[in-house]
This record gives sequence, C-alpha cells and structure tokens, in this order.
Amino acid sequence: MKAVRFHEHGGPEVLRYEDAPNPEVPPGHVLVRVRACALNHLDLWQRRGLDRVKIPMPHISGADVAGEIAALGPGISNWPLGQRVMLQPGLSCGRCASCLEGADNFCAKYDVLGYQAPGGYAELVSVPAANVIPLPDGIDLVNAAAFPLSFLTAWHMLVTKVRVTERDTVLVLAAGSGVGQAAVQIAKAFRARVIATAGTPKKLEHAAAIGADAVIDHYHDDVVAGVRKLTGGRGVDVVVEHVGVATWERSVRCLARGGRLVTCGATTGHDAKLDLRHLFARQLTILGTYMGGKAELLRAASLFFRGEVRPVVDLTFPLSDAAHAQRRLEASEQFGKIVLTV
Ligand SMILES: [Zn+2]
Repeated sequence: MKAVRFHEHGGPEVLRYEDAPNPEVPPGHVLVRVRACALNHLDLWQRRGLDRVKIPMPHISGADVAGEIAALGPGISNWPLGQRVMLQPGLSCGRCASCLEGADNFCAKYDVLGYQAPGGYAELVSVPAANVIPLPDGIDLVNAAAFPLSFLTAWHMLVTKVRVTERDTVLVLAAGSGVGQAAVQIAKAFRARVIATAGTPKKLEHAAAIGADAVIDHYHDDVVAGVRKLTGGRGVDVVVEHVGVATWERSVRCLARGGRLVTCGATTGHDAKLDLRHLFARQLTILGTYMGGKAELLRAASLFFRGEVRPVVDLTFPLSDAAHAQRRLEASEQFGKIVLTV
C-alpha cells in the first residue's frame, strides 16, 4: 500500500509518501480502506519527537479515520465488506477494570491510533472490531474523519468532567482549533452560553457562525477585560483550555467564583504557573482530561448523525501532500479540521 511514513524525527520534511507493507489483520481486527484521515496536534508532537514516548519507526501517524471495511480478521463476521465507517481512535486492553467500566482512556495500556500503533496516513489500517462505528447514509467520509478525536475530547471535557448545563457560561479558547470548534458546538447543544476566542476577524466570524454567542480577538483584545464585560464583572463558569502556557494565567483569571477550568493540552508549552490564592480563595476546580471513552464517542456521534453538531472541515489535501497539510496546522492557519484524502 501507499502510506506517509517518517523514519526519523524532525520537521514536515521527514514525511515520506512511499510504499509500505499492508497491515496484518489479527484475530478480532478488521482492515479498513482509508478514504479520509484528519490531522491532530498529536501528529506534530510525535513527528518532532519531543514526547518521552518511544515511537516505533518507520511510523504512520493518523488518529482520525473514515473509510470502508476491506477485510475481516479471524473471528469477525458481522461486518459487510464495503461498509462505510469511522474509527474510534482509542486503543486499550479491553479486560482491565477501567476498560470494563467504560473508562478505556484510563487503561494502563491506553494508546491512540497512529500514536504508537500505525494510523491512518495510509491506504489501509487494521483496528480492533470494537473501534468501528458504522456511518449512516448522508454522512460523507471527509466530515466523518474530521469528527472522532476532537469531538470525543470536547465531549469528555464538557459533558463528562464539567457536566455543562444551560446555567453555565463557557469560555472556549481558540475556537478555530479542532477541540475549540467541537467545544463551541457541544456547549451550545447543552444550551450553555458560549464566549469564544480566535485570532483573526475571519475566524471570529466563523466562531459566531458555529454558535458562539460572543467572540473575543485573543491577539488584539484584552481577553480578561472582554470576559468581565460580557459577564457583568462575574467571570465565566467554565474555561475550555488546550493552549497552555500562553493563555493559562488569564484563563484562571477569567473564572467566576466556583469556576471550573478543564484542560486537554498545552500546544504553546506546559510550564504554566498557578497562583494558589486564586485556586482556594475563589474555590476553583481544575480538571485534566485525555481523550475519552468509547461510549462517549458514540453519544457524541448520535448528535453528529442527527445534524445537531457538525465537524468543521478547513481544507483537504491529498495524502501525498501530508507535509503541506501539517505545515498549515503548525502555523495555526486553519479553522476546524485539516483532512487528508486517500
Ligand atoms: Zn484496559
């Protein structure tokens, strides 16, 4: 098969579009013909090699996959060949207490498709049958590939951890990011009030178009002052953080008394400071999250299949152009998900 692989860590230039062996299809797995694969920041971190996690080389990235069932491994019979599907990006042992409780993202063996296991920057990918989600007619494969990781993450943050309600005002940072656009839409689906930030007039317009009630330019405006003005001086009940050191202090300052800050990432760096006086005197809660469980993605997908939320696709690139696609994500030029077509 054709795949995009890297043989050593580095910049986008280490990505090679080349021939690779077809994946094996062990018992309990299905082989999927990839038609679309969305990019995530995870792809950039592992390519750069800054994580302490050892990545097997050569490596195929790609957590967000949609395509068709191409073959069934031993023991699997209940999927028609050609069935259109999207994939759960979380891989876990399936046997431990966390897995059996439906909290598979707490599994000690938890991995993400394309992180250590080979992923979807390829014509074929092999996954456990439990990771396959059939697609209804009318959901196209590019939109489907744009859905899983960011909506799973945002659902776990807002629904499972924060338990967002219509009483909450939610500040979503960087609404043009994958998690940002998903968080705006999920918070609105739960009838919260949403204030979103973005960095260009076009992105601000887009954030309002997907449901944000108010927007703040995070490069030109004072975000804390903007939030205070929009909330009558009170602050927000929830901040959806994923930016990290560049925004952390002001995210804390934007919170109302009793506010909850939920974070799933630190794309600008992890070495943030926390003034403990804010934490105790204002009785704040800080919640860390990583991905989410398989059941949560199915819950989020039911909103997607009913048309209540819709992943925003920024641009598509052919698989052979993965390096260009990653450069666009690295420069934060996108609004929504960048998708490779295969
Ligand atoms: Zn497990």
